[in-house]
Amino acid sequence: MIPQQQLSGGQNLAMKDEVQQQQFSKVASSEAEFRQLIGDENEGTLARFVDNKLNVLIWSRSPRDRNLIFGAQVSLPQLIRELAPLIDAISRPGFQAHWKHPFVATEIGETLPHWEVAVYLLNPAKLKNSARTVKLTLGLLIAVLILAISVGSWLIVTDLSQQLKLARQKTDFVSNVSHELKTPLTSIRMFSELLAEGRVNDPTKQRSYLGIITAETARLTRLINNVLDFARLERGEKKYKLEQCDLRALVKETCETFRPHFEANEFKFECQTPDHPVLVQGDRDGLAQVIVNLLSNAEKYSGNQKQIELRLEKNDSKAEITVLDRGMGVPKGCEEKIFEQFYRAHDSLSSGIQGSGLGLTLARQIARAHGGEVGYEGREGGGSCFRLSLPLVM
Ligand code: ADP
Repeated sequence: MIPQQQLSGGQNLAMKDEVQQQQFSKVASSEAEFRQLIGDENEGTLARFVDNKLNVLIWSRSPRDRNLIFGAQVSLPQLIRELAPLIDAISRPGFQAHWKHPFVATEIGETLPHWEVAVYLLNPAKLKNSARTVKLTLGLLIAVLILAISVGSWLIVTDLSQQLKLARQKTDFVSNVSHELKTPLTSIRMFSELLAEGRVNDPTKQRSYLGIITAETARLTRLINNVLDFARLERGEKKYKLEQCDLRALVKETCETFRPHFEANEFKFECQTPDHPVLVQGDRDGLAQVIVNLLSNAEKYSGNQKQIELRLEKNDSKAEITVLDRGMGVPKGCEEKIFEQFYRAHDSLSSGIQGSGLGLTLARQIARAHGGEVGYEGREGGGSCFRLSLPLVM
């Protein structure tokens, strides 16, 4: 299209010629440009900005004459009007969006440059909230995982160190027991050889040697009983025969068995019992073993203070046997550990006192099997106080 212009006069005619020439050459140049843009294509669209306005042309080449091209210009205001109801249909009624901040947006393409399709969230705060919730949940999950890993590692390390401690205690136990077996056996062998060879003719000495042999045999028996009972308890095979028994008679009997040995070793030994029977439900052998273990410990750990006391008392609904000595006492911090299996607060090397670390473990297990308890208390003025308490028969 050439715009119509009003031109007049000779000069005007000359100018008219010039203008017309220019206009024809413009048409020729824009046609050439158009042909260059469409190339060899058969159809397509062409979008151009003219006077800051978008013009979209849809064109198609005639199949019969390739130089003949049909075109139609899209009326964009009309297109907007046509699209409006469609957009209204998919949008929430009354929805107002912040046009500059879409959730996602994309350009439509070359056909409609500068046209964009965008999606807006109805409630952007909701998405922010759910993102915060997801973040919080993830954070919590990670924290819980880290906690679980730390607790798990701590448990593994504790378990491993416990296993190591137990393995070390078992090795110590074997060497302790071997020592405890060896010492009485050596004495028994030495004194029995002396007597057998007839090298001791003095009757007092003979009696004293026989006394040593009997005491050492009793010590061996105690040790073997403790080890065997411990093994049975560990396997869950140990059963106690609970029947009504008089604790006073049992205590007296055990004390009298020990008395000659204590006196021979210059111990001051006192055994206090009430005048009346003290009835408990218990296994005689088991309870005797507890008393024997406590008395033999009092002897072993008495040091230079050779004083041992045993008291049997009735206390409310309980019978209490207290074994007291004035010896070295249990070191601070070990008051409960001494009841653990194989644990020795005074080890053989430093104290020179032999033991298996089982006596108190067994004493406590036997007491608990009777519904009672064995505990330790330090004593004012030095020494130990071990208390066995058992429920009374009412
Ligand atoms: P052990 O065979 O070593 O004597 P026990 O289980 O009888 O084993 O005792 C455990 C530990 O308790 C002993 O090694 C000792 O350190 C401590 N102990 C037991 N009785 C006494 C006591 N009367 N005085 C001081 N310490 C004691």
